[in-house]
Amino acid sequence: MPATPAWPPASLPRLFVDEPLAVGARVTIDANYLGAVLRLGLGDKVKLFDDRTGEWLAEIAEAGRKKIVLAVNEHLRERETVPDLWLLFAPIKRGRIDWLVEKATELGADRLQSVVTRRTVVDRLNLGRLRAHAIEAAEQCGRTALPKLAEPVKLANLLGDWPAERALFFADEGGGAPLARVAAPGPAAILIGPEGGFTDEERAAIRALPEARAISLGPRILRADTAALAAVALWMAAVGDWAGEKEE
Ligand code: SAM
Repeated sequence: MPATPAWPPASLPRLFVDEPLAVGARVTIDANYLGAVLRLGLGDKVKLFDDRTGEWLAEIAEAGRKKIVLAVNEHLRERETVPDLWLLFAPIKRGRIDWLVEKATELGADRLQSVVTRRTVVDRLNLGRLRAHAIEAAEQCGRTALPKLAEPVKLANLLGDWPAERALFFADEGGGAPLARVAAPGPAAILIGPEGGFTDEERAAIRALPEARAISLGPRILRADTAALAAVALWMAAVGDWAGEKEE
């Protein structure tokens, strides 16, 4: 992602709108956040993004008590290419999964999917609520592409239909390679188990996948959400878009 440009100021409010944007478009939103909370009015500027065409500069053209109309007048940047990383995690308790989705969005994951395993304690997810957390995180961290949120999948189905071109880094508290040593550029996925861990049969089934590689996240047993974010951060730093230019 390019360095933050001088104009418009990074401090401008930034909102996701679920409709394609273009110069001259007019977008009507609830007045609550921009009006009541930020107390913005006519002529004030706002950044908008739509997860399709990138980020735009808009200004408040009409400011009512209930509705605000924004006029889109400048294209600031294209929708970014997000590193091709899937985060696969066994569903965990509500508060923690909301937090995990928010943090994985900030860290740059492209796709988030929960995997139902033998010891999974949660088997239903409110994807609408998780999408709201992902949107809020994207608004805050500057993403112009939202992470894809996929429906939960059973571990056996996930493995049975695994795409041959995608590396599967399986976080195994029983031991594995350091992720930084085995990560390589290219499509990848990180798989994290439930609070109760994988069963031996599940572990064997994952290891039997040619694309799977067991990774260690150190000598301590991490909570599933901690493990997920530690692994994403390690991958992003090794081969993701944190890698940056090599030092001279
Ligand atoms: N089986 C664990 C135990 O003995 O208490 C509980 C599982 S741990 C809370 C949840 C998941 O986080 C694990 O299934 C694994 O995917 C990941 N994890 C936790 N600590 C890890 C570590 N040190 N190395 C690799 N993965 C780890």
